[in-house]
Amino acid sequence: MGNANHLSFFQGVERNFDKASKYTRFEPGILQQIKVCNSVYSMKFPVRIGDKIEVIEAYRVQHSHHKLPCKGGIRYSMDVNQDEVMALAALMTYKCAIVNVPFGGAKGGIKINPKNYSVFELEKITRRYASELVKKNFIGPGIDVPAPDYGTGGREMSWIVDTYASLKPGEVDALGCVTGKPVTQGGVRGRTEATGLGVFYGVREVCNTADDMKRLGMSMGIEGKKVIVQGLGNVGFHAAKFFYDNGAIIVGLAEYEGGIYNEKGLDVYKVVEHRKTTGSILNFPDATNMPTSGATLEQECDILIPAALESVITAENAPRIKAKIIGEGANGPLTPDADEILNAKGVIVVPDMYLNAGGVTVSYFEWLKNLSHVRFGRMDKRFSENQNNHILKTVEELTGKKVTDIERKQLLHGPDEVDLVYSGLEDTMIGSYHEIREALLSLDNTVDMRTAAFTVAINKVGVSYEELGIFP
Ligand code: GLU
Repeated sequence: MGNANHLSFFQGVERNFDKASKYTRFEPGILQQIKVCNSVYSMKFPVRIGDKIEVIEAYRVQHSHHKLPCKGGIRYSMDVNQDEVMALAALMTYKCAIVNVPFGGAKGGIKINPKNYSVFELEKITRRYASELVKKNFIGPGIDVPAPDYGTGGREMSWIVDTYASLKPGEVDALGCVTGKPVTQGGVRGRTEATGLGVFYGVREVCNTADDMKRLGMSMGIEGKKVIVQGLGNVGFHAAKFFYDNGAIIVGLAEYEGGIYNEKGLDVYKVVEHRKTTGSILNFPDATNMPTSGATLEQECDILIPAALESVITAENAPRIKAKIIGEGANGPLTPDADEILNAKGVIVVPDMYLNAGGVTVSYFEWLKNLSHVRFGRMDKRFSENQNNHILKTVEELTGKKVTDIERKQLLHGPDEVDLVYSGLEDTMIGSYHEIREALLSLDNTVDMRTAAFTVAINKVGVSYEELGIFP
């Protein structure tokens, strides 16, 4: 993907890295080692589609081996190319470091439009890709753990784990070779909505931070804030849903066929229903049609969430963006030039490598679940409930007062898997936001939030390389 400066996507990531590395203490050799992609596997394999043989182009890039396994999604798209996969793999390294997920970054891609294939053909392509990864030792619970990304989901992850397990009979941790699996196949509850929920928790934390709101001249809290979301895929839909459920006003929604806007607010659930029945987001009752997805981004709002693809906000349309907060739900939705323009306007751009890290954070929880072979909450749920019961009984006896049935249910409830996953994610997103803010403050607010986030990531990866002692 190019931009106004003709930088490729990977070069754009490198440019952001260089901008931030000035503020770190590492020698050039270590910085270079952090920046480069450690292993790039480009493959071509044949798959029989109907009565023809199709040669499929695919990649897996491991950006950093400073911690193992490597981690990152696999996307199916006609835009897949080596540069894009390298850029996305690099972002994964920084993303994992920012949210304290102990993995190196990786990414995979298959250059296909999944809509052009039957389910059976997609299964053949996916299984062949997985076996190519096994052949070159590019997958495994301690090596490299893929996950869903654009164009893939739980179904593809099931095919991958099944292919891996059948090629590695008896490997007791085989389930941990991939995350984002359906719950019945070793997945964790809460993974599907994790990225969108992380986007919500992250932006909510910005809105709950008094200094940030003062700087933007906005009131505290998420309630009543006007939000536009681009993309109703897994990330965008769940983000929009959590904003809506928590009292934000969803004024605009966009998909590739165009967008809709209503300053009084849209019911996210009804819009999704409307798109399902009519095949388009357009012509939703009481909303104004936007001719393009891009035009929707330029409408009046407080918070803009681009949650579709990279490079949708460029130097060309950035000056027309009206939002005060941009939350990068997608990977790389702003080109570096757009980023500079918007930061100069005083917009808070919450960077992708922090804001959309909810997916990989919950993937980490899923991997832990797979390695421990036990559901979260299984050992302690009942214990907590019994203990809560004792405490409540004692308080009721001492005070002579009784709580209502609803209060009793809430107070006694021991954590289920999904409760623990949500609370682990919430804590991660809040904690990491303040780590980035502290980095910003230590640089006297002279840099943007992406640069501050990069310095946090570089510092962690750099220390890791130093401590590995690989530079004797
Ligand atoms: N594809 C997601 C991302 O870009 C998730 C990666 C993962 O869970 O490993 O962050």
